[in-house]
Amino acid sequence: MQAAPKIAPFMPPRRILMGPGPSDVYPEVLLAQSRPTVGHLDPLFVAMMDELKSLLQYAFQTQNEMTLAVSAPGSAGMETCFVNLVEPGEKVVVCRNGVFGERMRQNVERCGGVAVVVDFPWGAPVDPDVVEGVLKLNPDAKFLAFVHAETSTGALSDAKTLCALAREHGCLSIVDAVTSLGGVELRVDEWGIDAIYSGSQKCLSCVPGLSPVSFSPRAVEKLKSRKTQVQSWFLDQTLVMGYWSGGGKRAYHHTAPVNALYALHESLRLLAEEGLENAWARHQNMHQLLKAGLEKLGLGFVVDEAYRLPQLNAVYIPEGVDDAAVRSSLLGRYNLEIGAGLGDLAGKAWRIGLMGYGARAENVALCLRALEEALA
Ligand SMILES: *Cc1c(COP(=O)(O)O)cnc(C)c1O
Repeated sequence: MQAAPKIAPFMPPRRILMGPGPSDVYPEVLLAQSRPTVGHLDPLFVAMMDELKSLLQYAFQTQNEMTLAVSAPGSAGMETCFVNLVEPGEKVVVCRNGVFGERMRQNVERCGGVAVVVDFPWGAPVDPDVVEGVLKLNPDAKFLAFVHAETSTGALSDAKTLCALAREHGCLSIVDAVTSLGGVELRVDEWGIDAIYSGSQKCLSCVPGLSPVSFSPRAVEKLKSRKTQVQSWFLDQTLVMGYWSGGGKRAYHHTAPVNALYALHESLRLLAEEGLENAWARHQNMHQLLKAGLEKLGLGFVVDEAYRLPQLNAVYIPEGVDDAAVRSSLLGRYNLEIGAGLGDLAGKAWRIGLMGYGARAENVALCLRALEEALA
């Protein structure tokens, strides 16, 4: 008999999360998650799922019937879009201006697709003129994939123009909105986005582990006319929709993460209560406040002002400053987490998140005070 380990309950401290995600979770969301678990086919739960779907449609600004939350983090939302839509041999133009564009490329290749990669410098947005040229050179391309808000650098790309280009060239658009949803303007129907995925733990300020996804009728048509079977059973949307589709006919596919879905329901409800446009404005206002303070401290931004994400502020680490020491001092003294640089920016930049519930004046003030002290 193996001895039972004696382990105390895990009691995490209350950190202030100002990194690239997870973000500070709304207290109401943590409460919602602790409510009693019910069966995932319980009529009350099914009614909650219907509300959740309409809240997701509001957040995405879409009427898309195929709108749901994948029961896994943002990466699974990414994979959901690629495995359902891209068939072997199909060409996908993939824009790469940071870590997540590169992951899109890997997804395309794992689906047996042909990725035509268009590179942009780290910190720059995707340039629609360059993309247009590539689409013209590749008339057989079926998809255009790009990241709306590149969390690795803090750059915002022009999703509206890129999706219009995709349509003009007969492509479906696949858009990563993990960091953009709830933080900056995003209009799925108006901009003609075909497949989009997000994450619960960035500007929605929900607990991590869920990925909102939406497919346009054109994307659904592509899915239904596939010649090959979707290679992932779990992520196959034609099967998942048997559970998420409205009405009383929900069929078991997998056990929904019941309590996590309560949390998402609550975070989206809070977003709807605030109003999407107010939430976008709040992120911008908090960014301006943070920016003024960071500039006073002499910290320079990685991204040009015109393309800067309000919710992800990448700033260069000053010469001679110990990156890890500063971040661990913020965590130790202030319970404050900021993000390290990723990929090309590792060791060179910090990423300060102002996401969802975290985009508040007191967080900005604390972060500036803590950084000033750590740099002194
Ligand atoms: C965080 C993030 C992801 C991945 O989401 P996970 O929930 O960590 O799997 C994908 N794309 C972007 C732009 C992100 O910021």
